[in-house]
Amino acid sequence: MANTFRVGDHVYVESNVSEPYKIRRIEEIRKTPVGRVELKVRTYFRRSEIHSSLLNLVDLSQSEAFDLSELTEDERDQLANREVFSSLDLTETVGAASIRGRCVVQKLSEVESARCYVDSSDKFFFTYTYCPTERGLDCEGSDIRVGKEYQALLSEGGRTEGDLETAVWNPANGLTDAELKEYLKNATSAATFSRNLYGSGALQRRSLLMSAVSASRDCNQFHAMGLLHENGYELPPPGRTYITEEKLGGCRDQLDEWSPQEADLFEDCLRRLGKDFRRIRAEVLPWKSLAQIVEYYYFWKTTDRYSRTKASKLNKAQSTLTSITFREPPSLSRFRNVARSAAPLVVDEKPVCANCGRGSAGGFFATSSRRSPVCSNCWNYWKLYAHHRPR
Ligand SMILES: [Zn+2]
Repeated sequence: MANTFRVGDHVYVESNVSEPYKIRRIEEIRKTPVGRVELKVRTYFRRSEIHSSLLNLVDLSQSEAFDLSELTEDERDQLANREVFSSLDLTETVGAASIRGRCVVQKLSEVESARCYVDSSDKFFFTYTYCPTERGLDCEGSDIRVGKEYQALLSEGGRTEGDLETAVWNPANGLTDAELKEYLKNATSAATFSRNLYGSGALQRRSLLMSAVSASRDCNQFHAMGLLHENGYELPPPGRTYITEEKLGGCRDQLDEWSPQEADLFEDCLRRLGKDFRRIRAEVLPWKSLAQIVEYYYFWKTTDRYSRTKASKLNKAQSTLTSITFREPPSLSRFRNVARSAAPLVVDEKPVCANCGRGSAGGFFATSSRRSPVCSNCWNYWKLYAHHRPR
């Protein structure tokens, strides 16, 4: 439906009536506590917004991407202004009332011809990502890598499962369930005691209760079962376990190894970046290995810290919408009058448009790039494409 906008749609947004519309992508639609609808939108830069030193490069890549010989000079101008520049993660929040319409923005692919942009309205393409602080263009990040050169090479067969795996447990071990249960209970008790007294865990889990919770986790049981396997399923004498202070060192998992500060850093970053563990490591936890971070993530999901995070996410989700429907499609005309301004040019005692030279029944409107106002058709075109309509 023309008046329904969804997350992922590209839209024209107006923030200043005498400037061209901005091109944005809807990333999130939120209802504020007072009932207003706000949109988090991602920025696309227009040609006029990127640093002028880069325009030569942009023009060169356009002439390589398209067959420009099929276009007139005016059409080449039009095509140049259909190119926009993605910003990787630059977003802003705008009110729903500043949406002025829908447009299409697509990554340039080889199958598109120049004509398909010049001949259709509201259609834009992008090849580059622009970074305003570095004034740089980048086309690598957004490439989809398809083809032989991006596939991993697998060595030919010759592998047997037995060589890759080490047996750590044999279910047919001759022990009764009760014996095994008792053994594991002893192992957990010893681990609780040991965690409470020794090692790095003592710093983090001072109370006996916390040590017990920590010792009851699966890693501890697996470790104890592994030791039993190593010892040929010979149960230790009553009141003893195979868990010694030295052996226990081997059954610490990532929850034991992370300090509360490290856990906070991880959670903050996870909220911001999602499950991009490489970036999380690079940005806040460079002293952890990737494997440690991934392992911690899976343990963390079993803790109450995770439940709390999930609950707060759910609250947020309830105020997040997937689409917004306007009673009428957003239109341009309502805003034209605001742009009425300086007296138009006069030719033969008749007011005319500063761009096309024709008269205008609908009035004349100011732009930031011409001293005299233009007709309504030229103004609409300028708002959409950020350059003046070919005469
Ligand atoms: Zn005009």
